[in-house]
Amino acid sequence: METIDLTRLRAYTKETGQPTHPEMLDTRPMEHVTKIEIDEEHITVEFDERTTRYYNANEIVKREWVYKYNDDAAFVRAIAGVIDLARKHLKDMPENIACPPGCAECCSGYEPFVTKADVERLAEHLDMSFADVMREYIIERRSADGYHLGWVRKVTEDVADRCVFLKGTKSGRFYCGVYEGRPGDCREFSPIGCEDVDDMISRRSKFEPGTPFQPKKRTARRSRR
Ligand code: SF4
Ligand code: SF4
Repeated sequence: METIDLTRLRAYTKETGQPTHPEMLDTRPMEHVTKIEIDEEHITVEFDERTTRYYNANEIVKREWVYKYNDDAAFVRAIAGVIDLARKHLKDMPENIACPPGCAECCSGYEPFVTKADVERLAEHLDMSFADVMREYIIERRSADGYHLGWVRKVTEDVADRCVFLKGTKSGRFYCGVYEGRPGDCREFSPIGCEDVDDMISRRSKFEPGTPFQPKKRTARRSRR
């Protein structure tokens, strides 16, 4: 059973004149640490998080310990050790830094969101109208601020399926069929540190992309906005 050393509390009251309340001392152990934040003066440890789920809301309770460590030589030494380790790893390379030829795992797992500018670029690239691109290739889902209009359709209703613009027959032979006109989301996707990479593809293999994506004839440019 946890006990509180009341004599220490009494001694503290005696030394400082400040009243103490035993019920305000949390003597439970620090377990299940989920977050540690360190700045130049303080260390904050979050722990013992518990979630109570209701049908319509979650109640999340956690405990937090904050300590001004920069006056504590042992703590300063320990954190200096963490900084030294970070310096040692500063030049570590991530496992993946470039896309292997024909990899397109990210063209299946993600839905590239599109802005008005993206749809305009795709329309220009495919020689179609804005409205036709929206109808044929975009699942509409406008963001609250109106910035995103939706995301690029997949070949089926499954959002984890291949992007409608992805060409090629198998991993290692895939390529983007609208590369120059691809959405900003795709342009910003970086292979550096990418965890979705298909490791089975040889990085030394040679692969030339084939013909670009062609819209169906009936969607050729009708009217331009
Ligand atoms: S390595 Fe990553 S970013 Fe590059 S194509 Fe593969 S999944 Fe996409
Ligand atoms: S537009 Fe091109 S790069 Fe973007 S998800 Fe589709 S196939 Fe991949």
